[in-house]
Amino acid sequence: MVILAALIIKYVLFESHGQLEESLIHDSLNHQQDSPSNSSAKAGKSMASGLRQRTRCHTVSFSRQGEEVAVETDKEDRGSQTEEQVVEVVSEPGALSVDDSQPPRTLEECVAVMKSEAGAKSLSDSEVVLLVEKKQLPGYQLEKVLGDPLRAVGVRRRVVAPHTAHLSALDALPYCHYDYSKVVGVCCENVVGYMPVPVGVAGPLLVNGKKYMVPLATTEGCLVASTNRGCRALVNGVKSQIIRDGMTRAPSVRLPSATQATEVYMWLRKRENFAIIKEGFDSTSRYARLQDLHVGIAGRLLYMRFVAHTGDAMGMNMVSKGTEAGLKALKKFFPEMEVLSMSGNYCVDKKPSAINWIEGRGKSVVCEAVVPGKVVTDVLKTRVSALVEACITKNLVGSSLAGSIGGNNAHAANIVAAMFIACGQDPAQVVGSSNCMTLMEQWGEYGEDLHITVTMPSLEVGTVGGGTSLQPQASCLSMLNVKGANVENPGENACQFAKILASTVLAGELSLMSALAAGHLVKSHMAHNRAKPPATKPSSASLPSIPSSENIVTIKTTSPTISAPPAPLPPTTTSLSCPAIPALLPIAPNTSEDSGTRHPVSLTSSPVEPLQSLVIEELSGKKKNKSAETDEQVSSTYVVPACQDPQNMSLPHS
Ligand code: ADP
Repeated sequence: MVILAALIIKYVLFESHGQLEESLIHDSLNHQQDSPSNSSAKAGKSMASGLRQRTRCHTVSFSRQGEEVAVETDKEDRGSQTEEQVVEVVSEPGALSVDDSQPPRTLEECVAVMKSEAGAKSLSDSEVVLLVEKKQLPGYQLEKVLGDPLRAVGVRRRVVAPHTAHLSALDALPYCHYDYSKVVGVCCENVVGYMPVPVGVAGPLLVNGKKYMVPLATTEGCLVASTNRGCRALVNGVKSQIIRDGMTRAPSVRLPSATQATEVYMWLRKRENFAIIKEGFDSTSRYARLQDLHVGIAGRLLYMRFVAHTGDAMGMNMVSKGTEAGLKALKKFFPEMEVLSMSGNYCVDKKPSAINWIEGRGKSVVCEAVVPGKVVTDVLKTRVSALVEACITKNLVGSSLAGSIGGNNAHAANIVAAMFIACGQDPAQVVGSSNCMTLMEQWGEYGEDLHITVTMPSLEVGTVGGGTSLQPQASCLSMLNVKGANVENPGENACQFAKILASTVLAGELSLMSALAAGHLVKSHMAHNRAKPPATKPSSASLPSIPSSENIVTIKTTSPTISAPPAPLPPTTTSLSCPAIPALLPIAPNTSEDSGTRHPVSLTSSPVEPLQSLVIEELSGKKKNKSAETDEQVSSTYVVPACQDPQNMSLPHS
């Protein structure tokens, strides 16, 4: 304590933080060497490896003698992923851990200290652990009583580790060097660390004339590369528009009789009554603005779907607050009305539903793009007619046969999930946000080009609130220039984010559908999801784009009516240069009266190539239908050889 006090005075009056840091480590090591209690501290350290994780990322160096600090830190601080960060923590306010080298006091003494003015924060970490284990202190209150989120997380890990399936289970889960102040009370409780997820980038993607590098957080190999290829094929860019914007919340209420429920139903349909509810609703926030009220009725139960603008927030909290006020206003007219649940599942949040698909929820976005035929063959390695047919058979017929609602797409959820995780959105809302219909048509005078649209009616996104305020997530939003609130035009950032997201989905759809149309899917899956790490750097030359008998599988057509295989694809080039991205071309039909160049060509008049099936014959000669393995997760992993080449994936493409 004396050393510590002297050092603090020295620090405040004479030294920089860095000097203090060095002194602290040095002096403490010396102190440890001299301390008679060192042996007991050391004995304590032989406990479960979970307990090896020190409360403080830097304090690990305090508890062993005779070893270099860097080595020590490396061994002990298994929660930390980067070495250079080790020195940072000391400068955090309150980061100095209470000396844990002394044997803990008795439980009674610890309780007394906790209840005294000094409080739990003056106890050593071992003593705090003792208090939690003996149920004198709730584990979830550690942040509050210790007044230091990082220390609280470290202590909680020590409490939790012995109760996990494996004592060392937490060792590789990092926890240091994280700003928990933004987490506490907002994003997560009972925190024991954080989950790093790799973030890849796809782009540049031209959306409404602006280029974006899109962050995608995923552990699914090939997803980023495939999306990147889609971006590269979108040489004319994407036009993306919001057609509707309204977050919803639908409480369930009950009336004494169905007759009275009907009365309320009719009352709410009157414009002047809606205005009363809206007044109550809008009074709760500067940003929440009630737009509509859809009411569902089931006997004496009513479900009121409040639809509101929520500025740049995704809006669940905001709409819930407004809904509460709206119901209060309604209750004044119908006091017998009983509120059963603030959410009656007519909203619908985080569950599959037809209502979100039909009515929309959050942002409803429509995007379109025209891909020149040459790009389809050169970059996407397929043909326009094959793509159109694949789109009809898969996204329309297949999904319809499966009874899918909102699933008329190839893998929208892949891109939605990856962008949600990168940009601090609520991952559970991938359920509704992935509703998507992907359509393709032949385009141009001879049907030589491709017109593709993506319609996403229920993108539940925001750029303020929730996880968007966490620094890494905010950084990804920043990449897209949509971080935080748009002060001049509230709501603009969230809308812009939705437009970019839907455009990225379009890129992903284009790439995967091309893979399916070209019959590359299974081969790519085998090569990428089951590949051993290559001994040498792969090159595009070593990864042929046409299925080869020398590779893992060959793909055969199954339909007996198919007489000729699809036309040969263009040969792979080792350096598939990215076409320069011109300014966004207008993709609305030409206004000129000549040939209607950009109108779609009748599908029935165009030659349609047969789809290749997923029946695979292994080289061994054993025939085996592997289609069971090619579920959506698999199909989403496709990437063409050009994208496999890190050089092709490296940016920029312009
Ligand atoms: P959500 O409703 O998405 O769960 P919150 O309501 O928790 O998000 O967070 C939104 C908060 O951000 C509100 O307190 C709101 O007042 C504030 N805010 C600041 N600027 C904006 C903006 N431009 N749009 C929406 N909310 C904003």
